[in-house]
Amino acid sequence: MLHHERLRPPSHDYPADEWNVIEKAFHPEFLAQLETMLALGNGYLGMRGCPEEGGPNAENGTFINGFYETRPIIYGEEAYGFARTGQTICNVTDSKIIKLFVDDEPFWLPNAHLLKYDRRLNMKSGTLDREILWETPAGKQVSIRSRRLVSFVNRHVAAISYCVTLLNAQAFVVISSEIATNELSARSNEDDSRLAKPFSGRILHPRTSYYKDRRILLCHATDKSRLTLTCTSDNALESSCPHSYKVAHTADFGQVAFTIEAQAGCPIQLTKYMVYHASQTACAEELCGRAEWTMDRVVNQGFQQLLASQEQYMDDFWRRSDVRIKNIMEDRITRSTVEIQQAIRFNLFHILQASARAEGTGVPAKGLTGQAYEGHYFWDTEIYLLPFLTYTSPRIARNLLAFRYTMLPQARARAKELGHRGAMFPWRTISGEEASAYYAAGTAQYHINADIMYALRKYVQATGDELFLRDYGAEMLIETARLWLDLGFYSDAKGGKFCINGVTGPDEYKTVVNNNAYTNLMARENLRYAAQVIESLRTTEPDAYDALVQKTALEASEVKEWIRAAENMYVPYDETLDIIPQDDSFLDREPWDFQNTPADHFPLLLFYHPLNIYRKQVIKQADVVLAMFLLGDGFPMETKKRNFDFYDPLTTGDSSLSSCVEAIIAAQIGDMDKAFRYGMAALLMDLADVGGNVKDGCHIASMGGTWMMLTYGFGGMRDNDGTLSFWPRRAPEENAELRFPLTYRGQLLEIEIGLDKVEYALREGERLVIRHETEEILLTRESPRAVRPVSRR
Ligand code: BGC
Repeated sequence: MLHHERLRPPSHDYPADEWNVIEKAFHPEFLAQLETMLALGNGYLGMRGCPEEGGPNAENGTFINGFYETRPIIYGEEAYGFARTGQTICNVTDSKIIKLFVDDEPFWLPNAHLLKYDRRLNMKSGTLDREILWETPAGKQVSIRSRRLVSFVNRHVAAISYCVTLLNAQAFVVISSEIATNELSARSNEDDSRLAKPFSGRILHPRTSYYKDRRILLCHATDKSRLTLTCTSDNALESSCPHSYKVAHTADFGQVAFTIEAQAGCPIQLTKYMVYHASQTACAEELCGRAEWTMDRVVNQGFQQLLASQEQYMDDFWRRSDVRIKNIMEDRITRSTVEIQQAIRFNLFHILQASARAEGTGVPAKGLTGQAYEGHYFWDTEIYLLPFLTYTSPRIARNLLAFRYTMLPQARARAKELGHRGAMFPWRTISGEEASAYYAAGTAQYHINADIMYALRKYVQATGDELFLRDYGAEMLIETARLWLDLGFYSDAKGGKFCINGVTGPDEYKTVVNNNAYTNLMARENLRYAAQVIESLRTTEPDAYDALVQKTALEASEVKEWIRAAENMYVPYDETLDIIPQDDSFLDREPWDFQNTPADHFPLLLFYHPLNIYRKQVIKQADVVLAMFLLGDGFPMETKKRNFDFYDPLTTGDSSLSSCVEAIIAAQIGDMDKAFRYGMAALLMDLADVGGNVKDGCHIASMGGTWMMLTYGFGGMRDNDGTLSFWPRRAPEENAELRFPLTYRGQLLEIEIGLDKVEYALREGERLVIRHETEEILLTRESPRAVRPVSRR
């Protein structure tokens, strides 16, 4: 099923542009959406796209990845093994406030007379730029130009360049640069379980605060999670007009107010630097010291240097990651090439902003653009994001997998608590402990264990990083394989096959079912990969193998058992319909009455009791269809088609994780109409607010899914068997073109699919073997190009 675009602001105020998301007029009705869309972040620090003046805001948000507070999860009725500790990312100190007063008149967007307004997310530079011409009630014209960045190169740093010029008069100007503890906790007045729960009382408790010249420092700590945060800002003002400043501060607030006797045509340039440091172990004093070192360095460098390094980082990112299109999809869906190109870059840019410097943390479902889903890490990272990162920024992919490895102790403890062997990764978490308060659509999603191992395999294949596999991956493989072996059993009722009961698959509209096909297929993959890796270590790296045996008390018989379970894995199949039932009971259920479901009753989860959803044949998000994509080689085209045709009409797409996957399979089976329609829904999920909740944050998984859709779906890329291969198909549009780079084993490959031909070019590297359909192609430095015809449908 398809959802429609909801955000349809006047296009002249939001003109399409390939490199920028532009806002040409201030529309208070789109405040919340724009805050999300124009958010800046680097994977460590995130700031919603609120105006510098400190308002108006729908939800002012500043987030540090992994900086959270805990609270007990209160259940109406307790049961053994329920997750105990809720975790919510904190909305931390807001450092970006710059208030402007001209002749004591405050500049406040909603009532300012604006002669010019232009705000843009500049995806080439990695900045949020704004240009305003304000006419005060007294007729004084004030130009305000600002650029904000959250640095990719300096993980803890953000900066704003803010320039005010009186154009036609002189005036007394005050610029008040402030930082304030953001005690506005998560929004609570909406009955939507996806939003973060508010805390009662304050979360950030003052530890210390001080100022030196124009530098202010506020240090706070959380109570229960025992995390400490230092936020500091420093301010430099340049102007030939006479000026002075005053500083004020309390434990929760700091202000440097500059008073300037502004002359017409004389620019007043404020540069504000912001530094955040957080830690679980360092005390307040130490953390303040760290923040000061960082601040000294960046102040010394200056804004231009920060900007230059940001632009260089972005150049490098786009060189490795940019997906370019021409004439694809456009006449079908009334979106131009420029709009589609903009949406592609917007998605990729936000993935970067969510993940680039997420070191020692995961990637929250909303990145750092909102508090929804509490800042938790889900399977979204491994299944939806990691493919893009693996093929464009393998270092980030590695960091995220390494972070999973650090969770192993908690995962082992959780498995033990539930009476399982091995390790059981949390469905949703920040700290590593399970934080899902609803076990049926939480803890029961055992598939996350196989998802992480799937991402590991893909990462190792694409990068050749055998060391990571040996030092971290292998141990995770052993523990997850143990979990599956423990969870499943050989069922007489199923002809002695290995069955896995009582789990929830990706589709959260069916919970605690037996033999969810996705789970069984992915578990089989997990078991096989574990056996293969351990066997290969035993023969090729005996020392590493011995150490691993020591560490995990692995017995040789275990590996045999994994192979046996994998070989005997039960995969549901229905002869009559000739499809893979989603689980043992799916086909017994009554079909959902879509015809009599009002269009405004989606997502169903907000309008129907779970029981009414569970007992019907209705699907939240791709499940079997997702398995057919991830494990594509195992499914002949006919099987994909039959299953897609069966499941597609039952799939609501109530989760944003669905459309991109549906688009991929639709493209593979040649249903181009659906491929484009689902593709557009995925592509515009945030830019056109398809899900209706972009106000709460970006859908990072769907953003990753759009990359998969372009490369795997439309580009015909395949990598299941460890060789990079392509089965591109001719697009129906004339002059259509799709171009994307991939980093494979440290080399840069570019694929350009045109109307009749595809070109493979080795841009960096020595030697690369790929496959075009069934033909093997060798690209070398001497002979880096190969051109082949594109098949017609
Ligand atoms: C989806 C999950 C997803 C979560 C976070 C839910 O609505 O059903 O699959 O992990 O959102 O994005």
